[in-house]
Amino acid sequence: MKAAILVEQNAPLVIGEVEIPKLDVGQVLVKVKYSGICGSQLDEISGKKGKDLFLPHLLGHEGSGVVIDVGLGVNKVKEGDHVVLHWMKGSGINSFPPKFMWDGAMVNAGCVTTFSEYTVVSENRVTPIPTDIGFDVASLLGCAVTTGLGIVFNNANLKPGQSIAVFGVGGVGLNVVQGAVLVNAYPIVAIDIYVHKLKQAMAFGATYRVNATYLEDVEVWISRGFDVVVETTGDRNIRQMAYEFTGNKGKTILAGVPHHQERITIDSFPLHFGHQIFGSHGGDTQPDIDIPRYIQLYKLGKLKLDEQITHRYSLDKINKAIDVVRKGLAGKCVIKMGKMKA
Ligand SMILES: [Zn+2]
Repeated sequence: MKAAILVEQNAPLVIGEVEIPKLDVGQVLVKVKYSGICGSQLDEISGKKGKDLFLPHLLGHEGSGVVIDVGLGVNKVKEGDHVVLHWMKGSGINSFPPKFMWDGAMVNAGCVTTFSEYTVVSENRVTPIPTDIGFDVASLLGCAVTTGLGIVFNNANLKPGQSIAVFGVGGVGLNVVQGAVLVNAYPIVAIDIYVHKLKQAMAFGATYRVNATYLEDVEVWISRGFDVVVETTGDRNIRQMAYEFTGNKGKTILAGVPHHQERITIDSFPLHFGHQIFGSHGGDTQPDIDIPRYIQLYKLGKLKLDEQITHRYSLDKINKAIDVVRKGLAGKCVIKMGKMKA
């Protein structure tokens, strides 16, 4: 099968023919239909989290597909089931990572990878979904949507009428906006440097947009003291600014991945009086419980998924797709496995 392999950091992925391993206990073989690309993969490629000790390896952590076969002990899904592939752990066996072979040597993979035509994943990284959900939108439920909504519902516990500001309204941030709309937060302020992302945030229900390219626009809002401020970029200055934007008893939630050598500086005194700051781990998503709920909202027309996908590429063009995401040009960019027109 064809797979995109990270062979070297800060270099294009290599498209290679990888052997599918025999299934081990708790593993599931999935024919991948769609994979999303998210900031995490860009960070893995660029080495933002540090030196990569697992090269060469497969990557991608949000996707959708059809179950082809299951290993011993798997009872959560069966052959033919449609599934979301997600990076957060759900119910089921946490299997050993699969042992893929490429060019006569081992290529590493975690418990879930999605940049390939087929994948072997751990039982606890799949959630079955109804067959009437498009595989394209289903792939977004593997990370971007669940993280963004989880930040609002699980981490922020945002209440109707509370105010929220979101720094960076890309994949995750746009879904924070969407979650804030669902709970009737007010105002919902979207902050970004990309005009098209701000426009999309408004279409998703943001109350105001602030173009962070013009700092004075941002400063107008500093005195607002938001109940919740979410930061999705990982940028040091923006993380600090998110903290400053937060009200005395508010919550600052850091969702972006910071550079491994960067540190932030904050005035810690407000922490004594109710200000909270913490990092989000995938919005504390429980895939088995949350994904079906979100699918229900989607079917009711209350959750926008189709509108998030702005770019589609085949696996052969994955490096082009990664470039588009890196340059901030995409809303959500998905990789379709197989022929584009199929
Ligand atoms: Zn992700």
